[in-house]
Amino acid sequence: MAKRDFYEVLGVAKNASDEEIKKAYRKLAMKYHPDRNPDSKGSEEKFKEAKEAYEMLSEPAKREAYDRYGHAGVDPNMGGGGGFGGAGAGGFADAFGDIFGDIFGGAARGGRAGGPQVYRGADLRYNLEITLEQAAHGFDTTIRVPSWDACETCHGSGAKPGTNPTTCTTCGGHGQVRMQQGFFSIQQTCSKCHGTGKIIPTPCPTCAGAGRIKRNKTLEVKIPAGIDDGMRIRSSGNGEPGMNGGPPGDLYVEIHIKAHPVFQRDGDDLHCEMPISFAKAALGGEIEVPTLSGKASFTIPEGTQSGKTFRLRSKGIKGVRSGYAGDMFCHVVVETPVKLTEKQKELLRELERSTTEGGAKHNPQSKSWKDKVKEFFE
Ligand SMILES: [Zn+2]
Ligand SMILES: [Zn+2]
Repeated sequence: MAKRDFYEVLGVAKNASDEEIKKAYRKLAMKYHPDRNPDSKGSEEKFKEAKEAYEMLSEPAKREAYDRYGHAGVDPNMGGGGGFGGAGAGGFADAFGDIFGDIFGGAARGGRAGGPQVYRGADLRYNLEITLEQAAHGFDTTIRVPSWDACETCHGSGAKPGTNPTTCTTCGGHGQVRMQQGFFSIQQTCSKCHGTGKIIPTPCPTCAGAGRIKRNKTLEVKIPAGIDDGMRIRSSGNGEPGMNGGPPGDLYVEIHIKAHPVFQRDGDDLHCEMPISFAKAALGGEIEVPTLSGKASFTIPEGTQSGKTFRLRSKGIKGVRSGYAGDMFCHVVVETPVKLTEKQKELLRELERSTTEGGAKHNPQSKSWKDKVKEFFE
């Protein structure tokens, strides 16, 4: 495929100034950067094309070779005219680093060009254990979270009163050092001053040089109805404080729901086991079951078997996202009576005699089971 003209790629004139070339490239890089177009193959190609054009035209020696010989002048695969050594490579890689610093590092610096790097504070997580009822209905609570105040002894400077912080000599107060890695020039946080640009020779005895003191504060948290296990509530700005005037991080309250003695939750649905006497199972009738909002009752039919599930519509939990209530599922467990009196036992023996005479009619499951066992042995 024929290569497009570099000037055409950037949309600039042949006599464009370095500034115009840089501006044109920045515009294209913003538009086609893979981070902004994660799924677009076309964008990635356009981004690469613009990047190559910029790398060539921003380097005077390469631009001159390109103007004279065209693509053959600068393409290492085409043999002719080349002749740029390692030094030139460093030069345009550096320009590349600069332009990316402008585009993608700009926000974090908070407009303080050349000053120490501004850092957003770390996010904090708070694990909050709640009951299923609290999760279902929502509630307001207070939690104790760490907070930081400026140190009163040093007024936040971190230096012992009477002494002053000095400018970091490793980074010259920038808080950042530039590293060359292959074609890329990478900015790294200065390891000596940790990005503050300052060194504290004599730390404040109260805060040990941190400039701030950790305390606790009480925070009100609103737990919305329907919240589920593992969901997080963000409390904006209540994380750790930022550095060099950066914004604070956020606090995340992570919800953990305690096991419930009666209900198991599955999304917005609830499940419970419902033990019933075998007489009730045989005769059918009204059953009362607990729900998270009081009692509910329903009728089970005659001859209900163990394992049968009844669904109570909208008796689950109203979902925090869906906004409508899930269902409740009652799983029947037929209970065998225990500690019977002699009279009760006699009644059961009589029942047994009368139902076995009927065979399959009264015991459908054991009849079909017996048939299977018989088949198995024959
Ligand atoms: Zn202090
Ligand atoms: Zn430093």
